[in-house]
Amino acid sequence: MVDIRTASAFDVHAFEEGEGLILCGVTIPFAKKLKGHSDADVALHALTDALYGAMGLGDIGVHFPPQDDKWRNADSSIFLRDALKKMNDKGARLNHADVTLISQAPRLNQWRDEMVDNLALLLSLGKERIGLKATTTEQLGFIGRKEGIAALAQVTLLFPS
Ligand code: MG
Repeated sequence: MVDIRTASAFDVHAFEEGEGLILCGVTIPFAKKLKGHSDADVALHALTDALYGAMGLGDIGVHFPPQDDKWRNADSSIFLRDALKKMNDKGARLNHADVTLISQAPRLNQWRDEMVDNLALLLSLGKERIGLKATTTEQLGFIGRKEGIAALAQVTLLFPS
């Protein structure tokens, strides 16, 4: 018997002036960056929250309080690595990860391969077990007005039973 647990998560960050839009740990050339306490990598935040969720461990804010100045401009892979370490400590393993990026601008498809490569590296997961999609909101709502980017993530973890 395998104990299978799945979890999903959502995150959104607004744009602000500046350079250094980072998604899935990859720097994307764009006229704006995402606003946040850390590097605001909305994709890694959603993935990390999904991992914590599948372990019943709350969310990023519990483990890395935004009030703590230590995490200002932090590389979000630190958060992801923490969730993966907790997973490994439980003897669980990641079976698959799926991310949907919702962005009107920039269009992200041309960065897809690079983002998948980096996720494979960060997650120690075969690329065939990683889903990464990029979509728009057809110009509707805050994403359609190019005010920010959202990400959805889903993971499946296998726990020893
Ligand atoms: Mg976030």
